[in-house]
Amino acid sequence: MDWMKKQMITLNVLKLWSLKDSGQIEALVGPYKLYDTSFRTLCGHGWLSDEILDAYLHLIVEKGKIPIYRMDAVIGSSLFHLGQHRVFQKMAFPEASIWLCPVNVGGHWILVLVRMDHKEVIVIDPLGHERTYQRRILRNWRNFLRAKDARQGNWKVKTLPHGLQPDASSCGVLILRFAESFLQVGDLQSVSTAPAQMFQDRMDIATKLLQCKDKVEDYCVSCNMLHYDTCKDVIEMIQCDFCPRWTHKECATHFVDLFKCKKCELQ
Ligand SMILES: [Zn+2]
Ligand SMILES: [Zn+2]
Repeated sequence: MDWMKKQMITLNVLKLWSLKDSGQIEALVGPYKLYDTSFRTLCGHGWLSDEILDAYLHLIVEKGKIPIYRMDAVIGSSLFHLGQHRVFQKMAFPEASIWLCPVNVGGHWILVLVRMDHKEVIVIDPLGHERTYQRRILRNWRNFLRAKDARQGNWKVKTLPHGLQPDASSCGVLILRFAESFLQVGDLQSVSTAPAQMFQDRMDIATKLLQCKDKVEDYCVSCNMLHYDTCKDVIEMIQCDFCPRWTHKECATHFVDLFKCKKCELQ
């Protein structure tokens, strides 16, 4: 990306962070919808939301050359933290040799990497308390394999050396960086955990996600849906007179001469 474009997107991120939340869709990343409220979690000392983690890991995996199975944060947390297997009943067993699983252990993100070929479950806690989770995670993993009738064998749990989270809120940021580094170079030691770097990383993640804006303008500012009424063939939409976004005619309740969308109205 050229310098000018990068500056533009950085400014857009800062603008988004400075505005009031209106619950509007701001980016579409693979199957994930990211709202202004999702981006808000990347600002300052926010705690990253599920959809930010899922969307960013989606971007990383898409770029990678080796086949990787990426688990949604909600699913990863069910399997490894809560030990629930019902969600997996219908899931076909993934072929990929590496599994990438963000896990919420109760207000804190950790990362679980599964190396199928090595029979290894790698637990990475940005705070460095891996020992707290390892036994439970290995047990839940074994139960999952049993429930899926998958080959058991002699599974090991381990961790990898890494820098430590410098604050109370950057666990999400760090597990994304650790996942990226693991896929690129196979270790985590090049990931800086300096406090200033956390802010840089938040901006970098937001910038990459905010670039995924294709088709965002097809969504109504007011209801966040593509179509107001699927039975209708014609969908009438009105463009805001203050920004480039569109609103369904039915959703645009009050306007006189000029139309101001819900988002602009709130500012
Ligand atoms: Zn609408
Ligand atoms: Zn507007």
